[in-house]
Order: sequence, then structure tokens, then C-alpha cells
Amino acid sequence: MSKILANDGISESGKVALEEKGFQVITEKVDQENLIETINKEGIEVLLVRSATTARKELIDACPNLKIIGRGGVGMDNIDVEYAKEKGLEVYNTPAASSSSVAELVFAHLFGMVRFLYESNRQMPLEGDQNFKSLKKAFSGGSELTGKTLGIIGFGRIGQEVAKRAIGLGMNVLAHDKYTSEANITLNFFNGDKKTFTIESTSLKNVLRGSDFVTLHIPKLEDKAVIGAEEIGLMKDGAGIINTARGGVIDEDALMFALDKGKLAYAALDVFTNEPNPSIHLMMHNKISLTPHIGAATLEAQDRIGEELAEKIIAYFNK
Ligand code: NAD
Repeated sequence: MSKILANDGISESGKVALEEKGFQVITEKVDQENLIETINKEGIEVLLVRSATTARKELIDACPNLKIIGRGGVGMDNIDVEYAKEKGLEVYNTPAASSSSVAELVFAHLFGMVRFLYESNRQMPLEGDQNFKSLKKAFSGGSELTGKTLGIIGFGRIGQEVAKRAIGLGMNVLAHDKYTSEANITLNFFNGDKKTFTIESTSLKNVLRGSDFVTLHIPKLEDKAVIGAEEIGLMKDGAGIINTARGGVIDEDALMFALDKGKLAYAALDVFTNEPNPSIHLMMHNKISLTPHIGAATLEAQDRIGEELAEKIIAYFNK
């Protein structure tokens, strides 16, 4: 019976799928400094992590019985992937499991942004009972999403899920991807009907110039921000921007400057350069809608992540 240590947790559905096949799944968290010892003492063959636990060269070298490292989620910055593979380990992640959840979070921010919910939720508890009329005035003048143009930068899994929802709302979509020239977006309706739209990638400049809102879905590959002062300068006056990709994809200082000057009306951030200690200036900014990196953190995504890892582990041991 192989032992699995799910050190950052695993969904109940994933755990049950593994246990039904005879695996023992341990979910008690082991501190990073005791991890090597526990893996060896317990005879762990599969280590599952999310973003908290790291699996570096040192651990890979020190745990010769380890066969699989699984990452629930996409980014594998916390695992020495190439080294693990060189040493004959399998390394799995679950890149598609959370795309819908991240796309829905984009719309949670978008709907909130255009009606200033992020700020009215801060002000109503403080002043709502006394200054209702002035708050009503302050938060009037919102807008609708329908009919507006959403610019999607990075037209991969999440970008395409965002496009589906935008089309469903009657928005226009502009997309830019460095490596993909077009994508077929299929909307599935409640009655079984389907409709496919082909969206061609256009230049970054076209997306920035033509969009009322810009949403970022690119990986963080370089140190330099993809959206800095120059790029923001190309955007429409009064536009909004959303980053649920990775901290640092957008230059946070340039963003705050553009918000303070009124160049951009609002922004939404789920990811930050200095996680888990993001800039207090961002946290306090009254034109930014904020979430603490919860893009993938839905029950459905966590179930899919656990189930996808379970399937891959079961397939490996059945080989
Ligand atoms: P993906 O690989 O499917 O898509 C990324 C796309 O970006 C690709 O099509 C690629 O060609 C394109 N691209 C890369 N560099 C580019 C650039 N400089 N300019 C334009 N296009 C570029 O990835 P995905 O699954 O859609 O994930 C996108 C991002 O979302 C990643 O950064 C990922 O880490 C992040 N993410 C965040 C959360 C969260 O909790 N907020 C959850 C999951 C993923």
C-alpha cells in the first residue's frame, strides 16, 4: 500500500478516490524542516503540495523512495521540476482545474468595480447609517459591462474562459497572445446548445488602446512588468485593469500613479509582487478591488485539483 503525504491538504473527493484504490493518504501537515525525515521514516512515495510546501534538490536527493511530486495548481516555482525529472521522479500539476474559478473571480471584480462595491463595502459600515444620501451620491454613476470591450492579455486556458463569460454578457472581446494567433471559444448553454466563436489575437497596443477593461492572464516569465507606465499610457482614459495572473506582471507603482492621476478609474488585484506581505499602499488604495490570491480557491476547483492528481497517481501505479 503506497503512502501519500498531502502536505498542503487535498480535497475530500481526491482523498476518497485514492483511498478506494488502497492508497494511504496522510494530510497532517509536516513542517518544512521535518519533511525529509518524515518522508523517509513513513516510507512516503508521493508528496503532494500546493504553494506552501517546497520540494527542492535537497529534499529530492535525501528521499530516494519518493516517486511522485504532485502540485495542486499551476505554478511550480516551489518545486525543482527539472532536477526531479532528471532523478527519475514524476512531477504532476493540474493546470486546467482552476481556469473557470479564476475567470469567475475576474468577473466578481469587474462587476464590483463598475459599481464601486469595493469602496462602498468599506464606507457603508462606517457611515451608512448617518450619511446614506451622500454615499448614494458618491457611488452613483457606475456603468454596465454589457456592450463594453474587454481586453484579454494572455489567451491561454484562463484567458479563454474569461472570453466565454464576456461573450455571454454581450461584451466585445479583444485578445492579445504572444504565441497563439487565434482560439475557438465554445459557449455551452443550459439547453445543450453550443456556439463557437473564433477570436484572433491582435497586438498588445490594439488591446490596450481599444479596451474599456484589461485583464491579465500571462505567466510571470521576466523580471520586467508586462504592463508598466508606457502600456498604461496607451489605455483609454477611465479604463480599468485586473490582475489575477501573478504579482509583478503589472508595475504596482505605475498602477497607483495612474489611479491617483485619474488616468485609470479602478483596478482589481488578486496577486501582488510581495506576497504574502503586499504593499500597504495598495491595500489602502480606495480605487482598488482586492482579494488575497484566491483565484483558484473554490470548492469546485479544489475538488477538480484533488481528483486530477488522484487519477494521475492511480494511473502511474497501475502502469
Ligand atoms: P496558460 O499557459 O494556459 O496561458 C498563458 C498564455 O499567455 C499562453 O497562451 C501564452 O502564449 C501567453 N503568453 C505568455 N507570455 C505572454 C506575454 N508576454 N504576452 C502575451 N501573452 C503571453 O496559463 P493559464 O492557466 O491561463 O494561467 C495564466 C496565469 O494565471 C498564470 O500566470 C497563472 O500563474 C495564473 N493563475 C493564477 C491563479 C490565481 O489564484 N489567481 C490561479 C491559476 C493560475
